[in-house]
Amino acid sequence: MAHLRFKALDSVNQRQAEKVEMPTKPISDFYGENVFGLEAMKKTISSGAYKKVISAIEKGEKIDGPTADAVSSAMKAWATSKGVTHYTHWFQPLTDATAEKHDAFFDVEDGRAIEKFKGSALVQQEPDASSFPNGGIRNTFEARGYTAWDPSSPAFIMNGTLCIPTIFVSYTGESLDYKAPLLKALAAVDKAAVAVCDYFDKDITKITATLGPEQEYFLVDKALYQARPDLIMAGRTVFGHSPAKGQQLEDHYFGSIPPRVQNFMIDFELEAVKLGMPVRTRHNEVAPSQFEVAPTFEECNLAVDHNILLMDLMNKVAERHNFKVLFHEKPFAGINGSGKHNNWSLSTNTGKNLLSPSSKPKENLIFLTFFVNVIKAVHDYADLLRATIASAGNDHRLGANEAPPAIMSVFIGQTLTEMLDELEKNGNVKVDKGDNVYMKLGINKIPEILLDNTDRNRTSPFAFTGNKFEFRAVGSAMNSAAAMTVLNTIVAETLTKFKEEVDKQIEKDVKKEVAIINVLREYSVKSKKIRFEANGYSEDWVKEAEKRGLNNVKTTPHALGFYMSKEAKAVFEKHDIYSDRELEARYEIMLENYVKKIQIEGRVIGDLASNHIIPTAIAYQNKLITNVKGLKDLGLDSESKSTIETIKEISKYIKTIQVDVEAMTEERKNANNLEHGKDKAIAYCEKVKPYFETIRYAVDKLELIVDNEEWPLVKYRELLFLR
Ligand code: ADP
Ligand code: MG
Repeated sequence: MAHLRFKALDSVNQRQAEKVEMPTKPISDFYGENVFGLEAMKKTISSGAYKKVISAIEKGEKIDGPTADAVSSAMKAWATSKGVTHYTHWFQPLTDATAEKHDAFFDVEDGRAIEKFKGSALVQQEPDASSFPNGGIRNTFEARGYTAWDPSSPAFIMNGTLCIPTIFVSYTGESLDYKAPLLKALAAVDKAAVAVCDYFDKDITKITATLGPEQEYFLVDKALYQARPDLIMAGRTVFGHSPAKGQQLEDHYFGSIPPRVQNFMIDFELEAVKLGMPVRTRHNEVAPSQFEVAPTFEECNLAVDHNILLMDLMNKVAERHNFKVLFHEKPFAGINGSGKHNNWSLSTNTGKNLLSPSSKPKENLIFLTFFVNVIKAVHDYADLLRATIASAGNDHRLGANEAPPAIMSVFIGQTLTEMLDELEKNGNVKVDKGDNVYMKLGINKIPEILLDNTDRNRTSPFAFTGNKFEFRAVGSAMNSAAAMTVLNTIVAETLTKFKEEVDKQIEKDVKKEVAIINVLREYSVKSKKIRFEANGYSEDWVKEAEKRGLNNVKTTPHALGFYMSKEAKAVFEKHDIYSDRELEARYEIMLENYVKKIQIEGRVIGDLASNHIIPTAIAYQNKLITNVKGLKDLGLDSESKSTIETIKEISKYIKTIQVDVEAMTEERKNANNLEHGKDKAIAYCEKVKPYFETIRYAVDKLELIVDNEEWPLVKYRELLFLR
């Protein structure tokens, strides 16, 4: 291993920035060239067929056989003209990755070779999917699952294959992926929001949720990565003493991007724009070797697909640049982790952002309506929202003094706080005929200052940022769909109830605007405890939140439990997102994923500690012993005092490691014997995982003692400072 470390460092020293081919044309010339989008479709199929595709996208209508045939044949012609020979249904099973099953266009019919791609093959495919997580659904019912085309996300070419975005469901119709429930939640929020918009503007017939995910990541050199078995197996370093210099100087954030990294970024961004992904900003992040990429926001389902695709693409392009991308939420202890900030809003078919305040009174009421409803939704379902960001990786990050705590709260800024305070104060306002209702209600003008969104709080998990909410607590490796499914569902539910309550008042002859304000006032008062404007990273907030009765659930097995609550089941059932069975299956899968991750980490820790660290420590200790003996032979006993102390210290740490590795292994065995997923996950979390820290402490101490030349693992200072 020691050899591997130094070999890796040698190759890093010889690295040059990889060349990138800069485009000779403006980006707009090749933007989306590897995507079979609506424009390409419109040009190549009949207008009748095109209309049917559009209504399938907008209204979720089924696509008939002839239309599917028309699209598939146009798609095939387009793809083969670009040298593509295979197609695949691209889907997002409940793992961290995407999945594909490749089929060739090429076929032999009556002894003749032809290229074919029928509409039926576009619309539906049966993957050999028995190995994807299914939480027992397919064991008890049907052994098969199938994928079905999602026409709202365009097909694209990746790795020379035509990829068709699809949902993945069991043969009996239960969803087994991230996309199917997300599409349902988006339909639910569309319906509920349109119904509310009916109070304001009859032209609003369609509401689209928008998402702009800012993706943080670390880059490490590929050779160094390969010399760290923990990075390979677990995606994070399980050992490693902090370097003399970490992020305390904060010199990385505003520093220039190293040329190797810059070229990597240019390269993947070029591929991304060809795939129709609007990536725009790139910059360094706070930690050394940490970066961020942020696309312009898009329709939520498309943005989720693009984010997952972008992560794939980055992994692929990184190979060419001798990098590995770390999407893990906490690859390095003592250094900031990575998140995926989910910027979310709702927009109308008339081109309005419903969360954008305006200086026109009437539009302000729309803004206020949606703004307050979102806060109420987060208040009512804070625990469920917390469940969506639970993962083994994110457990290290949340509440680690660098990321929002595990407590859900909403930040709205001073101006809007004052506005809601004002709203709450004014009791039931009486509006007479001829009154300016907006003036009377005190919502005639929201100060312009809002439109300049400098009022920021980076410590809040859920912050209003001028014209959108930013859900900052989502983990960098996670599929945003989980969070977006719940967010859109709970907003749909809150809007639905809101509409019912306003309607009730209108029936009693309360003026519409007054009824709306009355319910908003009530919602604002009721959801007050979820609002927090100060430092979310502070100890004070933890105490304050406890007083307010807000949950602070720090670990995944417990946070996931919220998916099983009565409220969660009811809201999912009502909006047709998950049946109980689907929800339970999903819960099982998530627990299982958690257990597997911790199990792998436990094994890696055991292996590295016992087979790499201890032998190295003993070898070094033997050298010291020889030295002490030599001194003694020369009659220099007194010279060896401190060396003897070191020898004792090494023994102490070796002993700790041996004892704790054995105890950890024992606890793993105990955990494995537990029958229920939840018990097992809790045992892994509470009985196995604590040893990770004690073992790490001893190993990191040994790193400081043992001769640098002998140390087998690439050190933090070598991993973190890219050149
Ligand atoms: P910053 O937050 O750094 O000031 P921006 O205001 O441009 O920068 O927004 C950051 C992220 O928010 C970007 O990824 C952007 O696409 C996204 N975003 C902006 N407006 C919306 C919106 N209406 N809906 C969803 N995401 C949005
Ligand atoms: Mg952000």
